[in-house]
Amino acid sequence: MSTTLDPTSADPGGVAPPDVRPRLWIGGRWEEPRDGGRMDVVDPATGRTVAEVAAATPADVAAATAAARAAFDDGGWRSLSGRERSRVLLRAAALMRERADELARAESVDVGKPLALARAIDVPGATDQYEYYGTLAPHLDGATRDVPIPAFAYTRCEPRGVVAAISPFNFPLILSSSKIAPALAAGNAVVHKPSPLTPLSALLMAEVLRDAGVPDGVYNLVTGPGPDIGDALVRDPRVDMVAFTGSTTVGREVAKVAGERLIPVAAELGGNAANILFADADLDRAIGAVINAFVYNTGQFCMAGPRLLVERPVYEIVIGVLAEAVGGVPLGRPSDPGTVIGPLASAAQRDRVERMVRDAVAAGGRVVAGGGRVDLDGGFYFSPTVIADLPQDAPAVREEVFGPVLTVQPFDTEDEAVRLANGTAYGLAAGVQTSDVSRVHRGAARLEAGIVWVNGWAMLDTAMPFGGVKDSGWGRENGPEALASFTRTKSVVIALDGA
Ligand code: NAD
Repeated sequence: MSTTLDPTSADPGGVAPPDVRPRLWIGGRWEEPRDGGRMDVVDPATGRTVAEVAAATPADVAAATAAARAAFDDGGWRSLSGRERSRVLLRAAALMRERADELARAESVDVGKPLALARAIDVPGATDQYEYYGTLAPHLDGATRDVPIPAFAYTRCEPRGVVAAISPFNFPLILSSSKIAPALAAGNAVVHKPSPLTPLSALLMAEVLRDAGVPDGVYNLVTGPGPDIGDALVRDPRVDMVAFTGSTTVGREVAKVAGERLIPVAAELGGNAANILFADADLDRAIGAVINAFVYNTGQFCMAGPRLLVERPVYEIVIGVLAEAVGGVPLGRPSDPGTVIGPLASAAQRDRVERMVRDAVAAGGRVVAGGGRVDLDGGFYFSPTVIADLPQDAPAVREEVFGPVLTVQPFDTEDEAVRLANGTAYGLAAGVQTSDVSRVHRGAARLEAGIVWVNGWAMLDTAMPFGGVKDSGWGRENGPEALASFTRTKSVVIALDGA
């Protein structure tokens, strides 16, 4: 199934990419990759190559980890007071505001995000990470402890060392900032490896962090293919911790390597959240939340709500409303200010979504909205799609589709709803739409997820921890919890003579 949008109405080109240095940022210098490797950056809105960046090799990774190790061991950054590090991070936030337009264009052209959403959500969300952890940095104190022995006892809160920050393609700026900002606030050195699909904002952030005063070697950036340089980074003996966000499959590999090396890994992995809609919910409001939950970022959102569970008395009503409403969500060019749904981030992602929808139809799914590609400018567009009546074991229900696809299943009792919601391997987010406050608290306790939203979706803030359970990983980003994860506690006990 394929739809063609009118290609005559607007600028046929995509969003203009910002100027970036196509090099690696290592030890405070822009370096050519040792073998001169290059990789293309493709605009998902047009399928055209819009930039070329460096493709690092494991030798470049070794240089970056050596630079980070030297910068950490030199002690310049970690021995600054929290207040001094805070000033640098707050300067970074201010520079991000100044360069907001470039950063938003980088996110839009890399991921295919509507430019207006990149400006309204991605750039402020990432800036907030630097501001929030800049504000917390002065408060990273140890504590004195009252001990029943003749000793003065206290704890020190120390950085872990060299942190490998590995980020995915869907929110490049936010999900790298959510690692780099707390890691730097705690005094660590960082080697960042963004997704090869979306390296542009990281190249701008290397300049931002340099200009904010992050010392040479404390932040390093290697761009390139994941399986080669991501793996080399995690295996590098100079790395003390891995902060990883990505798929469950790759996260498992990363955790295995980190496990062998006995270094901590924060693993933020895939999701497949269920949204439970009870008949007593405010339906207008709930439908808005349901649609937002699966179209936002073209469904490429680990915390998307791609599984809707509807209480039987309103099942067909909800399906009817969705069938009407979903087609009206503006899909189009990221450069168009009215666009809500842009293209998927790559042809491979679009093909995967298409395949899963085709299989869902073969498994008996009833497509009530969308269902196929949209032809526009050669971009990787897919219409927002609603599929009803699939059984729990259908792959589109069980697995992460990572596209603008919603499955809808009925339920009869609260117990059944919770069982279906918890009935996949994932556990990142969940939602309850109801007006019954007791049901809200019961659901919040019983749903296997790192975050539960009630009467809304994707209400996120830098102060609120998020992360998963089960195959969605472990560890928490955001909040003081994330800052604590980039530190380790040392106990100091000093004998008191004559006590
Ligand atoms: P991915 O797992 O393919 O890649 C993630 C990162 O790992 C990339 O930088 C990639 O280059 C790198 N990588 C690949 N192979 C590696 C290896 N062997 N060793 C080390 N690094 C390696 O994920 P993706 O396709 O970029 O992102 C989509 C996935 O991320 C989805 O599953 C989504 O749910 C998940 N995600 C989770 C969260 C969360 O907070 N839990 C947030 C966003 C995305």
